[in-house]
Amino acid sequence: MFRKKLIISKRLNLPSPIEELSFRGDSLYLKRDDLIHQEFSGNKARKFHYYLEQEFPHIKKIISYGSNQSNAMYSLSSLAKLKDWKFQYFVDHIPAYLKENPQGNYLKALENGMDIEIKDENGSIEKEDIETLYIEEGGRQKESEYGIEILSEEIREWQKDNNIQNLNIFLPSGTGTTALYLQKHLADIRVYTTPCVGDEEYLKSQFLMLEKDRTLHPTILNTEKKYHFGKLYREFYEMYQELKYETEIEFDLLYDPKGFITLQKNRWLLKTPLLYIHQGGLIGNLSMLPRYERRYQRVIS
Ligand SMILES: *Cc1c(COP(=O)(O)O)cnc(C)c1O
Repeated sequence: MFRKKLIISKRLNLPSPIEELSFRGDSLYLKRDDLIHQEFSGNKARKFHYYLEQEFPHIKKIISYGSNQSNAMYSLSSLAKLKDWKFQYFVDHIPAYLKENPQGNYLKALENGMDIEIKDENGSIEKEDIETLYIEEGGRQKESEYGIEILSEEIREWQKDNNIQNLNIFLPSGTGTTALYLQKHLADIRVYTTPCVGDEEYLKSQFLMLEKDRTLHPTILNTEKKYHFGKLYREFYEMYQELKYETEIEFDLLYDPKGFITLQKNRWLLKTPLLYIHQGGLIGNLSMLPRYERRYQRVIS
């Protein structure tokens, strides 16, 4: 077990590279957290880094819950596999179509040995057990700070080595955990974000659950148009394709389109050095892309 852990941690590609990109005539830096590890990447690798590094001699199983296509679900299934733990995951429902045509994070997590179960009526999950690690939906918890602090150190080091003044950071948020801990550990850099899962009020309440001091919260930017998480939007697909064409980098389809649309509405942010965090999520594209293609491909091409 111990040797296995060492071999796996060595393979984590840290510090992740930072590249300079040009998009629509602006230049920006990109932190390639999508390249951390083939099976354990993006901000979920940062959030669950703590569990990968620490020894948990009593633990035999991870329990978590959330949506049936979540990136966190897949990353936890990889973590469990790397650690030789069981992984039990609770969802509200599994659509018949997905059961018959497993794909994306759902398929990959099943291949990693995930035991997926429907939550019972009252929605409570038994978690009192010393052999079990209970992990909040999407990794919204204190333990995530460990890996995100490492991310912040990598950024600080890079900034110093390259003597970059007036740096700002941008990343799209779900629970806001990554943005919050980044801002906390980079007090002299402003971290900008935009909500993708709930609205601005939801994101603020998420920040408050992790940090009471509002002066340590990231700065929220928004678009006029409201987007609902997981729904298909033509401008999201177009942004994804344009990014892929111009930068030759694949971005995710749930968070990054809203991120780049928000940046386009706030181009002043691109006038000084900006670091965009690529938070991974590309396995999720395997199920999102066919949905987009079915809906828009014929119209666009
Ligand atoms: C989980 C995830 C996010 C959101 O991260 P939070 O820390 O919950 O804000 C953003 N992008 C991708 C690709 C993700 O998988």
